[in-house]
Amino acid sequence: MKFADLGLSEDLLKSVTDAGYDTPTPIQAQAIPAVLMMKDLIGIAQTGTGKTAGFVLPMIDILAHGRRRALMPRSLILEPTRELAAQVAENFEKYGKNHDLKMALLIGGVQMGDQVKALQDGVDVLIATPGRLMDLFERGKILLTGCDLLVIDEADRMLDMGFIPDIETICSKLPAQRQTLLFSATMPPPIKKLADKFLSNPKYIEV
Ligand code: AMP
Repeated sequence: MKFADLGLSEDLLKSVTDAGYDTPTPIQAQAIPAVLMMKDLIGIAQTGTGKTAGFVLPMIDILAHGRRRALMPRSLILEPTRELAAQVAENFEKYGKNHDLKMALLIGGVQMGDQVKALQDGVDVLIATPGRLMDLFERGKILLTGCDLLVIDEADRMLDMGFIPDIETICSKLPAQRQTLLFSATMPPPIKKLADKFLSNPKYIEV
């Protein structure tokens, strides 16, 4: 399997080559075509399998067209920790350098002012930890009604950290017509329940 067989655009294939990647990892080979076909997805994969590029690359192609609107992010990636959120942001910067995509990071421990300003300017990709996102949402600084692509990353760690109620609230604020991707290293019953409730006919990938 080659990257060129997965349906990514030429622009993105160039970014992949620039990143020094030769062959897609197993999760990438399965996830990228499914995400590009706008399917919901459950990916059972550990960190280190290349799962981040598995969702970041097709998201860049999906978001390449479309308009930004103030306060209404077009897509949302939920991460359990600031460190993971920052890593995903680095991936978007690396692979998205040839694209005009605006990204914002909503994580705790950072002044809210700049985050609010970024949201007002319009955001294609919002990468957030659930606590900070809920906080801004409750202050009316963010609208989730335009967000039709959701990634719940590291779902089992979200569970360990007590974030599932926040994630349920966030999911209920997003449009019902959306694409949802869920990644987790394991699939304990509460995560299975979350997936049953918020994903629609997902493709299941385990690597
Ligand atoms: P992740 O599992 O997303 O945290 O990625 C683990 C590491 O694998 C990161 O350092 C990536 O830069 C690297 N990586 C991702 N995809 C590939 C690939 N197709 N070939 C080689 N390395 C990769």
